[in-house]
This record gives sequence, C-alpha cells and structure tokens, in this order.
Amino acid sequence: METIQDYDIAVIGGGPAGLAAGVYASRGGLKTVLFEKALIGGQITTTADVENYPGFEETLSGFDITDKMKKQAEKFGTEIIQENIRSLKFEKLNNTVETASAKYKVKAIILATGANPSKLGIEGEEKYTGRGVSYCATCDGALYRGKTVAVVGGGDSAVEEAIFLTKFAKKVYIIHRRDKLRAVKLTQERALGNEKIEVVWDSVVKAIKGTEYVEKLEIYNKKTQKTSELSVDGIFIYVGIIPNNELVNSQIKLDEQGFIITNASMHTNIPGIYAAGDVVQKILRQVVTAAADGAIAAFSAEKWLEENKDKQS
Ligand code: NAP
Repeated sequence: METIQDYDIAVIGGGPAGLAAGVYASRGGLKTVLFEKALIGGQITTTADVENYPGFEETLSGFDITDKMKKQAEKFGTEIIQENIRSLKFEKLNNTVETASAKYKVKAIILATGANPSKLGIEGEEKYTGRGVSYCATCDGALYRGKTVAVVGGGDSAVEEAIFLTKFAKKVYIIHRRDKLRAVKLTQERALGNEKIEVVWDSVVKAIKGTEYVEKLEIYNKKTQKTSELSVDGIFIYVGIIPNNELVNSQIKLDEQGFIITNASMHTNIPGIYAAGDVVQKILRQVVTAAADGAIAAFSAEKWLEENKDKQS
C-alpha cells in the first residue's frame, strides 16, 4: 500500500466544520487534506432552507452553503479526497490515516465526522425504510404530494421539517412524546399556526405497519395510556442524533452519549488531535457553530504545530 507523506493537517469529514477547518488551515499555509466518505456538505445538505446562517439574507439550501464552503476550501489549497477511512493511528506529529488505497502521514488531525439521525428502534422501522419511513424530508418530501405524513420528534429538526412537508402533504401530524415542543419559539409558532399541521401530544409510535408501503402507525398515548391507530402514507423520524465516533471511540475521551470532549481550543485529550462540529460535546449544533469550531480547531492546530516545530522531522 502506497504511503503518502507530508501533510500538515488531515481533516476527517466534509461537513461545515470540516470545510471551515479546511479553509482556515489551507489559508494559513498548512498542507491540508480533507477526507469525506459520502457527500461533501454533511447532514445540512438534507436541509432545504437555512435561514439562520449569518451573511445570507436570502434563504439558501444546506447544499448551496456547503458547496460554497467546499469551493472556498479548494481555492486555498485544501485537497479533498472522497474515500472511506479504514483506521486512524495517533502518534504525536506522525499520525496515520489509512484508506482502502493509501496511507497518509499527517502531523495533526481535525476530527469533524459529524452525526447521524437516531432511530426509534420500533417494529416496522427498518422494514419500511425507503418505503414510507424516512429520515430526510428534503430528499423524500416531494413523494408525498397530496398525502398524509407523520413527523416524530419535537426538536428543531422535527418541527422545521414538518413545516417544510406542508409544501407537499395535505396533512402533517407531529407526534411528540411530551406536552411541550423542544424547538425554538419562532419555529413552534410557525408550526402551531399552520393549518395543515396537527400535533399528537404525549404520544409515542409503537409500531409502523403496512403491506408493501407504510399504511398506519400504532400510537400510544402516555397520559391516557390508550393505544390507537393513525393512517399515514409516510413517517419522518427526527428524534435526535448519534455521533459518528467509530473511528476514534476507544482512543479519544468521549462523554456519556459518545460525543468527543474538547477544550475551548477544540483540542481533544490527545496532543495534536482536534475535533469540531456535531461530533463534539456542545450546547448548540448549527452550521454557524460547526464552522466556528472548524476555524478554531485549524487555528489551534496551526499554533500547536508552530510550538512543536523543533520536534518535527
Ligand atoms: P433534538 O433537539 O435532540 O430533539 C430530538 C427530539 O426527539 C426531542 O423533541 C425529543 O423529545 C425527541 N425524542 C428523542 N428520542 C425519542 C424517542 N425515542 N421517541 C420519541 N421522541 C424522541 O434533535 P434535533 O431536532 O435533531 O436537533 C439536533 C440539534 O440540531 C439541536 O441542537 C437543534 O437545536 C439543532 N438544529 C437546529 C436547527 C436550526 O436552528 N435551524 C435545525 C435543526 C436542528 P424530548 O423533547 O422529550 O426530549
């Protein structure tokens, strides 16, 4: 297997955190490589309308924003490699990133591997994924024109995507396990004021049923303790996220939920290994905070490399 030497920084993950790290590291003169196993842009590419990323008065899609970031990172010299990483080996100033085709030696690493949607783990969820069960309204919403759908969850993702789905569906149920939504107030108000949206409070989905495609949900009301059925053509699940920590989970300090613990400089517990974005333990997961993390991680890595200059071969 070919070993490619001499990268200053490897950024692992091509979402907003990784791309911002790429912009800052390469603009700072560091030889930077960024690895992404799937689509450049990360989770936000599944969001149709991003209204709160500063600097864009017009509403842009998650894809458009991250496409601009990608072009910006490449403009400054970030090399983007779309390949899955097999393993990471941490050794001070001499880390190894291994893909199926090559080994890369890098002085510092920024982990920006993001997160993925959580699953409910209920009957029918796996069976009907792609046949009525979805985790991405932007990708699949248009399939439900004139139909009835349910969204599970009460956070920003669930409520925003429920509003988005009203562009297509004739009726959108939000099924939430409590009597109060978690989403920010403005989003809540928009949803509660939308005549196509009805919230099914205090309820959880126990099973997803159908024949070839989803036809109905078995719903349990926690307050009344009654089970009922709800006829739907589709169900969109937005019940939080799980960090993508598989590459590092035995090597790096994580919190109880598996998010990477960093200090304010985005440094992990391992010298020269930084983390940024949704994979990090933090209070606000947004494009703007992911980009900020990436910038801080790249800046800190640059300083760390400078401080360790005399130890570099
Ligand atoms: P989240 O904020 O963690 O919300 C998850 C929701 O799913 C909660 O309402 C939770 O209920 C519910 N839930 C969790 N497990 C469940 C289960 N097993 N069964 C039923 N319901 C369950 O996740 P998110 O909405 O994906 O957001 C993730 C992060 O991204 C958040 O920090 C959010 O603010 C941010 N985000 C921001 C924007 C924006 O600002 N435009 C958009 C999307 C996401 P409880 O409320 O009872 O816990």
